[in-house]
Amino acid sequence: MAISQPDQFIALLGGGQLGKMLLAEARRMDLSVHSMDPDHMAPCRLGSHRFVQGDFTDYQQVMDFSQGATAVVIEIESVNVKALEDLEAQGIPTFPSAKALRLIQNKIKQKTFYRDQGIPTSDFQVHANHASLQSALAEDQLTMPFVWKLAEGGYDGFGVAMINKASDMDDLPDAPCITEAAVDIDKEIAVVIVRDRHGNTEAFPPVEMAFHPTANQVEFVVCPASLSDQANQQAVQLAKQCAEAFDSPGLLAVELFLTKGGDWLVNEVAPRPHNSGHLTIEACQSSQFEQLLRVAFNLPMGSCALQSAAAMANLVGAANHQGDVMYQGLDQALVVPGSSIHIYGKSQTRPFRKMGHVTATGKDPKQAMQRAAAVRDAISVEAKPSNLLT
Ligand code: ADP
Repeated sequence: MAISQPDQFIALLGGGQLGKMLLAEARRMDLSVHSMDPDHMAPCRLGSHRFVQGDFTDYQQVMDFSQGATAVVIEIESVNVKALEDLEAQGIPTFPSAKALRLIQNKIKQKTFYRDQGIPTSDFQVHANHASLQSALAEDQLTMPFVWKLAEGGYDGFGVAMINKASDMDDLPDAPCITEAAVDIDKEIAVVIVRDRHGNTEAFPPVEMAFHPTANQVEFVVCPASLSDQANQQAVQLAKQCAEAFDSPGLLAVELFLTKGGDWLVNEVAPRPHNSGHLTIEACQSSQFEQLLRVAFNLPMGSCALQSAAAMANLVGAANHQGDVMYQGLDQALVVPGSSIHIYGKSQTRPFRKMGHVTATGKDPKQAMQRAAAVRDAISVEAKPSNLLT
């Protein structure tokens, strides 16, 4: 295809920050993207060739919005899958495939798929509701500690709970869930795979989630990961095995655990651009967003090669701040060398909401992390004074 053909466009379901970063690459290459989001103030309202305020969980709205598209791309998983199936049947390719998304949307189906495909993952049990969970515990079929995960609709740690004692279960919703054996994790690694319409794949270099030494929260996504060459290769190999099994075009972010015993397990996957791939914008030859556009428009894949060590830190809403957003400290942040600040353009902040991120490059991961930390620590994402929570 030729670039700059307005009749060739991507229908993007979701208009958040992932879409916004896709739009930046699309604008650079003059590729057309139409986006849809229920929020008329969504980040993608600016920069799309067409922005539609609409509900991507609604069958008819997705069908209408996607008519005539070269491809349908998602930036959020909770879209209407039946519509994706019918669009595929009409000959409109979807990224990911409807089949893969159906498996991934539900953790019970996703984990069962790994087991059936011989993909290593932690041991798990399926529970239809709270009562079934309680009786499994009472009958010693389940022992603490374990990790509880909501089957559908969890995100960013909501819908996941570590259960060490009975009272940790008090606030769990009464809904279908899985319980997983608590893994003795040495490192958390992610690998983003790109797959074109013909099944060719490329892998971005593995990234490592670096945890805060005391707070037990992910502080940075870092590349290269602190892995031996052999372990790096094993991570890429397992991520590719996963991508082969799902056989879905577009991006697949594969989250992995390296156990203290040296085994690799697949935790979960996301069939879309992913937080762990944000640093590819500054650190790799072609970013995850550019790669997704290339494969969706049936253009050749680019190179995932790493150009520089890099670290990414999320910029999240300050605790106790909710309402119209303002960013403090940008003057100090913007002078940190090697760093790029991304502000997502969400009008409202909430405690710990992802409002932006910073990626810093450096001569090695340590320097990149120091730079990313300097930016993150300088910026405070607050609500305007009139909005402060009491
Ligand atoms: P989410 O998609 O909501 O982030 P994850 O499945 O990635 O949920 O879980 C969030 C975090 O919980 C992981 O990054 C990991 O630190 C921890 N975790 C998840 N599953 C397990 C497990 N089976 N054993 C130990 N820790 C786990």
